[in-house]
Amino acid sequence: MKTIDDFNFKDKKALIRVDFNVPLNDKFAVTDATRIEAAKPTIIKVLEDGGSAVLMSHLGRPKGQVNDSMSLKHIVNKASEIIGVKVKFAEDCVGLSAVEAVSALQPGEVLLLENLRFHAEEEKGDEAFAEELSKLGDIYVNDAFGTAHRAHASTTIVAQFFPDHKCFGYLLAKEIESIKKVMESGEKPVTAILGGAKVSSKITIIENILDKVDHLIIGGGMTYTFVKAQGGKIGDSICEDDKQDLALSILEKAKARGVHVHIPVDVVAADAFDNNAETKFCPVGEIPDGWQGLDAGPQTLENFKKVILQSKTILWNGPVGVFEMENFAKGTIAVGNYIDEATSNGAFSLVGGGDSVAAVKQFGFEDKVSYVSTGGGAMLESLEGKTLPGIAAILK
Ligand code: AMP
Repeated sequence: MKTIDDFNFKDKKALIRVDFNVPLNDKFAVTDATRIEAAKPTIIKVLEDGGSAVLMSHLGRPKGQVNDSMSLKHIVNKASEIIGVKVKFAEDCVGLSAVEAVSALQPGEVLLLENLRFHAEEEKGDEAFAEELSKLGDIYVNDAFGTAHRAHASTTIVAQFFPDHKCFGYLLAKEIESIKKVMESGEKPVTAILGGAKVSSKITIIENILDKVDHLIIGGGMTYTFVKAQGGKIGDSICEDDKQDLALSILEKAKARGVHVHIPVDVVAADAFDNNAETKFCPVGEIPDGWQGLDAGPQTLENFKKVILQSKTILWNGPVGVFEMENFAKGTIAVGNYIDEATSNGAFSLVGGGDSVAAVKQFGFEDKVSYVSTGGGAMLESLEGKTLPGIAAILK
């Protein structure tokens, strides 16, 4: 696996795919600069070697049209402040303005190209467009995990024009290592905690990880499809009736492979999908009609705690309750606390994919777990066992 440490960038121009797709407010100010900060170490390494950095990114979904509200010019000041160098800006990512700006670039300087997605060719993975991009640097560095599952021109196709001069940036390398630690070389016992709304959106992940984990904790809305399939009464809880057979076959497969599956035994039931609803604790298979399970109950959390605290490798994807509502967030917060404790005791913990990152950030667990993935969709596809095109293109 070639990383940025395998190259010396002295007098070289690094063409770096970063993920600067940051949120902006209505005055076009950056409201969360995490992604810019995450790319900083890679950029600094290039500059300290005596090279220059040409940054390319997308912002929003302009769908191939120039759109001033999604111009990367809005983030130039923030990027300059974070990187500590005055970032230059090219008004297009290809063509004369880009070529001229790149050729004027001196060692120690940083140039940000305009939004790649102002060109429809980017998302189409157009080869000619990728070749244009490739002329803007001597070494291609991919440091954008958030788009590594897309075979776009700047994330995948461009790599073929750098047969011996392409590598992963620090951020992408760290993402790959973290996934490996869980999926391939995790110290046992390995535990996956899967929550979220639906079995259907997690089924491929479950099937893929059954070979890799010792414990599978199932929580959140997914619970009720499993419980109903086993004959429990779930009241008005969320359920995918057509996935009941699938749920039973997952349980069988898990049993055959010696994986311990932990499903909630009790829940916080509510008489409406509302933070102010009436609530009561219920055994998971005895939820009355008119009531729905919206969070894990106390006995369930005790059970989860035991499993998590004895784990050496932990993967967390998906909240175990409707964490967006304060009264149903306790289970998700408790699970975060158990993972925090296990991590302090030496376990490796990875949080990633979809809403789990939002939950972790909301409740302040970011610094308490070993690694929080920066890519929602890319993380989910990795957990499903897919080889991401952006990663494959560097390895090729
Ligand atoms: P996902 O994106 O699949 O990880 O799903 C996350 C969503 O699942 C969150 O918005 C939660 O509110 C929701 N969720 C978790 N538990 C439940 C539940 N018991 N009933 C309904 N939705 C839930």
